[in-house]
Amino acid sequence: MPKIALSSGHAKNCRGAVGIIDEWEHNVKVVDRVCELILAGGGQCVKFHDMTSSDSSTNLNTTSNWHNSQTRDYDCQVHFNAYQSTNSPMGTECLYVTQSTLASKIAQAQASSGGFINRGAKKRTDLHFLNATAKPAVLTEICFVDSATDVGLWEENHEAVCQALAYALVPELQIPGEPPPVEPPVTEVKVVDVQIFAPRGVRVDVSVNETTEG
Ligand SMILES: [Zn+2]
Repeated sequence: MPKIALSSGHAKNCRGAVGIIDEWEHNVKVVDRVCELILAGGGQCVKFHDMTSSDSSTNLNTTSNWHNSQTRDYDCQVHFNAYQSTNSPMGTECLYVTQSTLASKIAQAQASSGGFINRGAKKRTDLHFLNATAKPAVLTEICFVDSATDVGLWEENHEAVCQALAYALVPELQIPGEPPPVEPPVTEVKVVDVQIFAPRGVRVDVSVNETTEG
C-alpha cells in the first residue's frame, strides 16, 4: 500500500482563511482523522501540523521540508477555500501539477460524500507545496469556510468526507466496520464538448439532465 505524508495547510500562528469556521482548525481535524482512518484500515500515513511558524514563507518552507524528510509515496495537504461570504453552495476541489487523475478522484470522492458541488481537479503551477514536494502531490480544498451551505454540509458529513478522502488516497484500505464508499457504476460514456463564455467573476453552474436519446 502507498504511504501517505499528510499535512494541514497554514500554521497555528499563521492560520489561513477565517469565515464561519476557522480554516486551520479544520485542516487539522481532517488531517488527524484521515491519518487515523488510513492507519486503522491497514495503511501507512504520517502527519504534520506546523505549530511554530508565524509567517507564510516560513510556514511553506517548514511544511515542504517536513514532507521531503519523510519516506513516503504521496504528499497531500489539506485546506479549506474562501471567496466571499455567501449562503450559496460553493464546492470542493483538488489542486495538482502532475496528479490530475488522483486529484479528480479526490474531488469526486469529497463531492459525493459531502454533498458538495464538484469543482473538480484544477492544475495550479503557482503553489509552493505542489512545486516544492518531491513526491506526487495533491492539495485538496474540502469546501469554502465562508459559504453557509458548504459549512453546514461539512458539519453534517465530516466523517464521510474524511473516509472518502482516505479511500481516495489509499484504495486498498479496509477500515473496520466501514465499507468503502460505492461509486455508481458507469454504464456508458459519451463525450460532449461544451464551451461557456462568461465575464470574469461570474460563476457558471452546469447541471446535466440525462436524456434517453442517442
Ligand atoms: Zn488554505
